[in-house]
Amino acid sequence: MSFFEISDRLKEFDKKAINLSKPYFEGIEEIAEYNQQKVLSAFIENRVSEAHLGISTGYGYGDIGRDTLDKIVARAFGAEDALIRHSFASGTHTLTVALFGILRPGDSVLSVTGRPYDTITGVFGIDKKTDGSLADFGVRYNQTELNGESLPDIDAIKKELKNKYYKMVYIQRSRGYSLRPSLSVKDIKTVCDAVKEVSPESIIMVDNCYGEFVEKTEPTEIGADLMAGSLIKNPGGGIAPCGGYIAGKKKYIEMCANRMTCSTVGREVGATLGHNRELYMGFFNAPHIVGEALKTAVYTSALFELLGYECTPRYNEKRADIIEALILESDKALIAFCKGLQSGSPIDSFVVPEPWDMPGYTDKVIMAAGAFTLGASIELSADGPLRDPYAVWMQGGLNFHSAKVGILLAANTMMNEEII
Ligand SMILES: *Cc1c(COP(=O)(O)O)cnc(C)c1O
Repeated sequence: MSFFEISDRLKEFDKKAINLSKPYFEGIEEIAEYNQQKVLSAFIENRVSEAHLGISTGYGYGDIGRDTLDKIVARAFGAEDALIRHSFASGTHTLTVALFGILRPGDSVLSVTGRPYDTITGVFGIDKKTDGSLADFGVRYNQTELNGESLPDIDAIKKELKNKYYKMVYIQRSRGYSLRPSLSVKDIKTVCDAVKEVSPESIIMVDNCYGEFVEKTEPTEIGADLMAGSLIKNPGGGIAPCGGYIAGKKKYIEMCANRMTCSTVGREVGATLGHNRELYMGFFNAPHIVGEALKTAVYTSALFELLGYECTPRYNEKRADIIEALILESDKALIAFCKGLQSGSPIDSFVVPEPWDMPGYTDKVIMAAGAFTLGASIELSADGPLRDPYAVWMQGGLNFHSAKVGILLAANTMMNEEII
């Protein structure tokens, strides 16, 4: 039985890649099972019933679905409190609400993971004081660079914090579009411990995008005061159609709620318009879906290593997020990979992705994303800028069986074009 044209040569590589991956799949299953129990127990503890999945309109006063899901998220992330809303427009918007919720004119923030993710640089106003950026409101930004091992430079951080008071220390867990490794929760704990030692008043905030449920603990369980992420990534479980969450200390969550709506009503308003069910289902499924995405990433790196490419992380390396970067070495390879992957997607499989000039990027970018939710990167997706070393960042996969087809078709397209 064969539904897809995969060359015999590639089938051999596939077999070997599966064998290499299997031992790592066991570790992924173990974490997914632990996190699934964590989430299920939070549902049971909060006595979720059909009434929680209902609809509110207008002001949305007393929406028990909304208020209870906040508690479930807090519980699952080991945080005092949380806000999870479909009305956060994106991950960047969610992080922005958290940053503006906490920071006031004259405050300073220190990023300890170097330059943040592209869209966040504009929120801080790092390069220019754009209208509405934190810089525009008089919030000062500074950063310490990663050290030679691509980890936060603890000595430099301590020195900077002794030198000056920073209201906030900002950590980005995931690599974003860089080739540095993502930070493990243990790495984040090392930073939190160092910050608390020299500047106990500083609020530690983590951009947790792509990190949720990859490990058994979350940053808020080991010293982070606040973290935020997107629901079209890990914690939406591929079901939430949009949104974001913020989790952390109760007093900071209240401050964020006042920024999210307004200071008189905070979290008491916000109609859920029928999105409760999707957010509950998505968060419930998230640990399993993250496991599927991790399996896809491990398999992809095993396969492409066997095919002779440099992959980061390697299939046998510890993972702190769901992203896999493949160094494809040529524009032809990058384009073929994305075309092949797109052809194995459940939605828009017939579409041929082309490199294009995207606002805010210096080089052309190519993307493959045949997803049920537009832009969802918990679903199998890949993109990369057309510049040396022609790296592609791939992530997601709602289920390994289907995602594997996408990856095989990507490799098969490269073989057909005689790249490998
Ligand atoms: C995805 C992501 C964000 C938020 O991006 P949106 O596209 O606005 O959802 C922020 N930081 C990192 C590291 C990310 O990966």
